[in-house]
Amino acid sequence: MSFFKKYAKSLIMIGPPVFGCTLYMVFEGSKRFKRKTTLGMPENAEDKSLRSGEARVKFAVKFKSTIQQYLTPAQRSTQRDLCASLAKALWEIEESGAAPVAPDGKVGGNGAVLFNNNGKTELLISKSGKDAGKLMDVDLDVCLVTDFNREKWSADFCSESESVLPSSDTPLHHTALINTMKFDWSEHPTAALHGHAIADEASAKKLDIPISTEETLFSTPADSDALMNLIREYPYPAYKIYIRKGHGFVIMGKDVQETIDIFNEKVKPYCSK
Ligand SMILES: [Zn+2]
Repeated sequence: MSFFKKYAKSLIMIGPPVFGCTLYMVFEGSKRFKRKTTLGMPENAEDKSLRSGEARVKFAVKFKSTIQQYLTPAQRSTQRDLCASLAKALWEIEESGAAPVAPDGKVGGNGAVLFNNNGKTELLISKSGKDAGKLMDVDLDVCLVTDFNREKWSADFCSESESVLPSSDTPLHHTALINTMKFDWSEHPTAALHGHAIADEASAKKLDIPISTEETLFSTPADSDALMNLIREYPYPAYKIYIRKGHGFVIMGKDVQETIDIFNEKVKPYCSK
């Protein structure tokens, strides 16, 4: 066979896979572009902080053990079920562009759900720095925050290993779900969803969502205090969605399903515009 015949034959053989691969890459690229949608948000103080190499998690952490060691098999089953619904919700907000990718390549969104450990309230939460385009793994990508000390600004937690830290927004979720238990509300939320896509006054006004006035670094006491003040002013369950100016939206619900229902009704249509 001449060189040219061999060359033509090779082209015929590799042509379709290369073409298919190119199509796949274009398709995947378009999905990633959608994930990176930031709705024209300007760079905020947190973006600048991450860009200069500052830590995402701005509270002290203490690893207790793996979740497997900490929980009984029956509790572990409940934990995995709760995390599976949280994973679905987080996938929904990421796919909708409501959890844009931060300068360090991690998804700007997270979620939490209360876990009743024999009467003690603990917080199941997505890990810090979730990779984009990947469903949260119910075993590897979650943490159980057993205690969050607001005075010491520290968290005790269980996860797959001590390098898997709870979300940098743990204080925000702790505020929304645990710190609000002291309020004399008719009912209390058990789940919260948070994304960075909607954080400005114009969006808040358009969507008729209460917004805080302060812009703060994420993961700080000031960030949590601003949410707490907002919730105090606009109490649950009359209000279930809030915006932290320069940070993002927080949805609270009676369970994970309700948070995703609120997201789909209120936030998702706005993200797709
Ligand atoms: Zn956040």
